[in-house]
Amino acid sequence: MNTTFLELNKIYDLAYNVLKKHGCDEFNADLVATTVTHAERDGSVSHGLFRIPGYVSSLKSKKVNGVSRPSNKFLTQNAIRVEGDLGFAPVAIRVGLPELVKTTNKHGVGVLTITNTHHFAALWHETEFLAENNLIGIACTAYKPSVAPAGAKKPLFGTNPISFSWPRKNDTPVVFDMATSTMAMGEVQVAARDGHKVPFGTGLDKEGNKTDDPSLIANGGVLLTFGDYKGSAIAMMIELLAAGLVGDLFSFEAKEEDNNDGGPARGGEFIMALSPELIAGENWNEHAEKFFLQMKSLDGVRLPGERRHRNRLDKGPRQINSQLIDKINSL
Ligand code: NDP
Repeated sequence: MNTTFLELNKIYDLAYNVLKKHGCDEFNADLVATTVTHAERDGSVSHGLFRIPGYVSSLKSKKVNGVSRPSNKFLTQNAIRVEGDLGFAPVAIRVGLPELVKTTNKHGVGVLTITNTHHFAALWHETEFLAENNLIGIACTAYKPSVAPAGAKKPLFGTNPISFSWPRKNDTPVVFDMATSTMAMGEVQVAARDGHKVPFGTGLDKEGNKTDDPSLIANGGVLLTFGDYKGSAIAMMIELLAAGLVGDLFSFEAKEEDNNDGGPARGGEFIMALSPELIAGENWNEHAEKFFLQMKSLDGVRLPGERRHRNRLDKGPRQINSQLIDKINSL
């Protein structure tokens, strides 16, 4: 694979300019380009520039509104609905999260239900924002079916990611963000593109056989959930929270509606915030630090989020697939 070194500001410009060219206004293009740049900065490459052709396809097909102006509506004193105006998720998230922080600081618990949005990014952006505001964050979203429920050979669940963040007063937050499939489809696509194998059992080919060939999974096959029926239960919970509770599309409904332009399908997102200060009391940070100390005293343990935060310290250029840069420039 040929690669090109790009400074972070050049990554931002590449993303921003192509989004602007295809119909985003400055507000929308800036928020999506920032999300993409932060993903490249942290080494979340499957949700960085790799996603730009899909973002652009959905602007070209007019599925996504590039000039969206999401708005908040309080359903209760601490449950807020963001009407996403059919734009990209980073825009709805930017509009909703500051209100969620305010209401959670007041009531201890807050819920943000985002509707009519198109999520094509990692979820740590939103949970980490909550942790940076001294709140615990939980976020999840459903997607078009590509994952078989336990026992099945056909997809019904999306790769349905879930993220959790824990704030730390004197350190970077602990954040996990993971698909409930064995792998995110983005990672499977990157592996297929780069000619790598994936662990056997990551998914099934179109005949229903387990395989380690990512192209057979990505083209007509199906992913499996992590941890067999246990992961399947969590993937089901995510469908119920991000679609059933939010009042937006289940993965199977998103598939029925989507125009398959290669960009993100319409859907919802569930975000919850909790205030440790109000719920656990003022000793919450010291108490949790004792637990992290115990964890880290065990050989081989690292905390989730540490890899990304370490990558972030590097302010230098990032190595980007040269073909991808050419592709984006040709859009
Ligand atoms: P990974 O399996 O790469 O990582 C999952 C989590 O585990 C990360 O938080 C990671 O932390 C942590 N982790 C990894 N290895 C270790 C370890 N040895 N010890 C402790 N923690 C560890 O993620 P996935 O491939 O499952 O998902 C990738 C991304 O895809 C996610 O950001 C997800 O939101 C996104 N996605 C988005 C979708 C959408 O519809 N928008 C759909 C599906 C996925 P760290 O970051 O520090 O490595």
